[in-house]
Amino acid sequence: MIARASIKIIPLLLSIMLLVACGPAQNTEQLPAETRNVILFIGDGFGAAQTSLGVQYARLIEKRELNIESLMHDGNTGYSLPLPFDSIVIDSAAAATQLATGQAVRNETLGLNPDGYPIETIVEWAHEHGLGTGLVTNMRITHATPAAFAVHQGSRYNSEQTLMDDLLQDGDVDVFLGGGARALVPAGTLASAAFPGIPKELDGESIRDDEINWADELAGQGFAIVSDSTSLRQAASSATKLLGIFSADSLPYVIDGRQMSLSTVPTLAEMTSAALDVLSRRDEGFFMLVEGGRIDYAAHANDPGTLLHEILDFDAAVGKGLEFQRSHPDTLVVVTGDHGTGGFSFTDADFGPATELLLDSGIVYQPGCCYPPNDRLNILFQQNASYSYILQQADMDPDKLVELVLVHTGLEMTMDEAREALVRDEQGLPGTKDFRRYHTDPDDSASALLGLALARHNYVVWSTGEHTSDLVPTYGRGPGAEKLRGIYTNTHIYSVMRETLEAGR
Ligand SMILES: [Zn+2]
Repeated sequence: MIARASIKIIPLLLSIMLLVACGPAQNTEQLPAETRNVILFIGDGFGAAQTSLGVQYARLIEKRELNIESLMHDGNTGYSLPLPFDSIVIDSAAAATQLATGQAVRNETLGLNPDGYPIETIVEWAHEHGLGTGLVTNMRITHATPAAFAVHQGSRYNSEQTLMDDLLQDGDVDVFLGGGARALVPAGTLASAAFPGIPKELDGESIRDDEINWADELAGQGFAIVSDSTSLRQAASSATKLLGIFSADSLPYVIDGRQMSLSTVPTLAEMTSAALDVLSRRDEGFFMLVEGGRIDYAAHANDPGTLLHEILDFDAAVGKGLEFQRSHPDTLVVVTGDHGTGGFSFTDADFGPATELLLDSGIVYQPGCCYPPNDRLNILFQQNASYSYILQQADMDPDKLVELVLVHTGLEMTMDEAREALVRDEQGLPGTKDFRRYHTDPDDSASALLGLALARHNYVVWSTGEHTSDLVPTYGRGPGAEKLRGIYTNTHIYSVMRETLEAGR
């Protein structure tokens, strides 16, 4: 009896197992593939040190989680090794090319393999397959990160005109939002002539040597052209293609924009929402890049308050992506950095006498070192103009510098510190030769010297004015995001995004 019953049960079990095994496969064949979107957020210079600063500030001062922290909780977190071809430090052009193509490439190149041949980017692939594409940045749109997604050049430092022509000529991007109007307008004209919303503080002359007017050209191709936040919002509700350019060069630092009352310039979050409005109307799905590019600049300049505000601005844009993902679960959101910059850290160094404290227990607490109190995070947040803005206003006058530093950072620097911050060598370059070895850009060095002079007050130290080799935290939510766990070179991120998009074909 037992044996006979078993014989009857086994075929039944087998057929159930077969049904279970075949079920999903049959469904996949019968139903059209689910449309998939990918939104890639790149914080330029957003390495582990920058992530720590943002998360610590939000937790300890605002008592909240950053959007990236919530993504760490309910998404998938891993670490990306930003390794280019044959080096251990990467630049933004190579890093973005690697994220855009999945291949390790030479530093400072855009969209070329190590032998110098063009490689297809994820934007080009997406466009070819009928998906919408968008590049959103607070830098000029020809800057290394956005350019690497649609440009193929031996150097990111080729002329802006060359990069712009390369970026626009193939027509594979549907939404451009950012800066860089000076390479879009004919020689001898102002950026504001074609982009009237650009405020005078952000205006500038064309850098072109010809009569090409890309604003007219793209308008003829069906692009809505906007240059302020109101027209951006309006156009986003109906446009299928959108060119929004808000500055002749890159957009200003968030705090400098506020300082100059540039209220018509959209935030990175506003640009992200506008791009999502346009691209989400595409039935075929879309790929979109959002770059928080000024994080890197603030870190090159060793300017911690500006850095914090740029991180918060980037995080607000990430929030828009996550909000969209919640209502469109077929969307993969990836947040990463291209590399760390500056080697930012708070530290417990010899910045003054450690304070003595009588505890309730009667123990006299006397630490051996001076550890930065939590309020140093708030000191950074209260900074309301960049070091570069402050130095420009101070115009090499130490008295003025002391006054402006107090007004814009709340820190009381001494006259000696102000003089140290304004040291120039016989060629008029900031700092000593030793200092400049690690701070190669003269504007950044001037700002970094001020950073050094203020270290005793804010407990902030920096290791360089250039890029660092630290691991880059990487997070994702949506289809394929589980493959972002663990540790990998940044080329893996490309594979994850590409597989997600392909699964939607
Ligand atoms: Zn950089």
